[in-house]
Amino acid sequence: MKRALFPGSFDPITLGHYDIIKRGIKLFDEVVVAIGINSEKSYMFSLKERQGFIEEAFKDEPKVKVVTYEGLTIDFCKVINAQFILRGLRNPADFEFEKAIAHTNRKLSKIETVFLLTAAQTSYISSSIVRDVIRNNGDFSVLVPESVSVK
Ligand code: ADP
Repeated sequence: MKRALFPGSFDPITLGHYDIIKRGIKLFDEVVVAIGINSEKSYMFSLKERQGFIEEAFKDEPKVKVVTYEGLTIDFCKVINAQFILRGLRNPADFEFEKAIAHTNRKLSKIETVFLLTAAQTSYISSSIVRDVIRNNGDFSVLVPESVSVK
């Protein structure tokens, strides 16, 4: 079984993440969306809310699982038996950042990182922009799955 872990903060999930997950399930038997717990970061949405948004968005998709984890991503991959890490790339800054992490992960494990290039329509979307629109009472519904905007 080919299992990929899609790690992130998902604060909140956006249409950019949604697109990567949808395309990921065509490549893998299972995509485990893994919300990383970082005690040094502060979030707009609670862990439960972030998990709920993703579960609701993929409630009809049995190949998508949603979990939370702490610690190194590669260690968690071993725990759930995921051979791949799935990540999205939007721009050169993402590439440089992701490259260093992927190289480190390859040095420390056999886990392969698979990158999907963002869809043109969602390439500009980030959770931080969504949070900014929310804070300023803008209409963020065009940037996120319905499970987030109906909240
Ligand atoms: P992190 O805190 O790990 O950056 P994010 O939730 O911001 O977590 O992102 C998780 C993954 O989703 C990353 O690989 C990121 O590049 C990807 N991603 C975020 N937004 C988009 C988008 N609009 N298109 C494609 N990939 C995206």
